Amino acid sequence: MHLYPCGVRRYNVKARLVRNYDVFNYNHRGTTKQIWKMLFVDVEGECVQCTIFSPHVENFLGMFHEGFIYVLRGVQVVHADANNKIVPNWKQMTITSTTVVIREEHDDLAIPTFFYNLVAFNRFHVHANRTDMVFDATGLVLYVSPIESVGQNSVKRDLAIMDKTLTIIKFTIWNEFVHILDDGHLNTEADFCPILFACGLHVKSFRGRTYLTTGFYSRIYVNKVDDLTTSLSTWYESDKLAKKRVACFRSTPFSLQSSIDISNAHRVRLASFHAMRKVQYCRVIANTCHLEHVDNIIYEACHRCLKKVNSFHGVPTCESCNITDVVTIPRLLVRIEICDRSGTLKITMLHDLAQLILGCPATDIKLILQQPNGRKRVMEILVSKLGYKTFCWIIPPPIQDFNPEHSYTVSYVLQVDWAEECMWLTKFYEGKFHN
Ligand SMILES: [Zn+2]
Repeated sequence: MHLYPCGVRRYNVKARLVRNYDVFNYNHRGTTKQIWKMLFVDVEGECVQCTIFSPHVENFLGMFHEGFIYVLRGVQVVHADANNKIVPNWKQMTITSTTVVIREEHDDLAIPTFFYNLVAFNRFHVHANRTDMVFDATGLVLYVSPIESVGQNSVKRDLAIMDKTLTIIKFTIWNEFVHILDDGHLNTEADFCPILFACGLHVKSFRGRTYLTTGFYSRIYVNKVDDLTTSLSTWYESDKLAKKRVACFRSTPFSLQSSIDISNAHRVRLASFHAMRKVQYCRVIANTCHLEHVDNIIYEACHRCLKKVNSFHGVPTCESCNITDVVTIPRLLVRIEICDRSGTLKITMLHDLAQLILGCPATDIKLILQQPNGRKRVMEILVSKLGYKTFCWIIPPPIQDFNPEHSYTVSYVLQVDWAEECMWLTKFYEGKFHN
């Protein structure tokens, strides 16, 4: 920001007010104090936050209007607050009673009308749980959840938004923001996506998943008309992979978080699975290459805790619940090996997923196994559903050192969309895209 010195730590500034926040009241040692924050951009495009503290706040009420250019005479320039900086700038301006505020009557188009502190969605995790900064995001809205009450006085809504990195991120909007996207904005039948620009957001992390939320200094704009929005919509119109991602995301039967996890799963070949860390899921295209015998496909589980029940002297005992002669239910466990051209991996499909893949409840499999030739018939079912077929496997990365003898649990199995795979490979080899 161009600062013209006019005294000790005092400067004259000409800049446009791009954001004028509500006066924030807070309690300090029993008295109510006020803080008023604004954001100014100068002709060089630099953005500086400007603060007025009580008791000076009331001297300036009604004097500032967003979009106008102001000459501020005699502002103090100090180091920016450590908490909730609105822009990444070491300095901030402070207006006191001796500052003279003059609104320019003529607009100067050389001074930008907006400031963007954007972060690419695949980089947000770097800023998770920072308390010293807020960030801006722009993306396509893929999903809007119903409004949900939280506690006595709050309402929230979850959005799923995607940017040019094809990363989908959850964005929780609170209270006054929940109506910013109403039903008219989102027609999930079509591939239309509203474009959202949101600023002053907090980056949070929960169980390794990064998400965004609104806070006191947040603003949200839907389908704002500017270069940024135009560039995003032009990209979306022309990028087939982006359209594919959106269609896949909107058609998954899973929960919002699962759909986001699956969509963001890191694509790997089996040879590099062992080295994967710090991602939620790996996405592997591989075919089944070895089906184990079916002797252990069914195990008996405690009906209370669903843990495997062992038999002591013929009495089924749940060690977890500490109950003998416990009622058991049959559960499915399918262990197979998958391979791609780079390597192989032993995997396990737990009960729910196994039932889904085999299209058959565990109780039926148990019944078949009890019949003559039952093992052969169960193997036939396994071969018909899985045998030498290619799937898209969504697998959490190894937690500890990779062990080739360990069987890694699969979280989701999807049909391969070869068109999407080709589009992704093309982009990958063009170097345009890193996932
Ligand atoms: Zn139990």
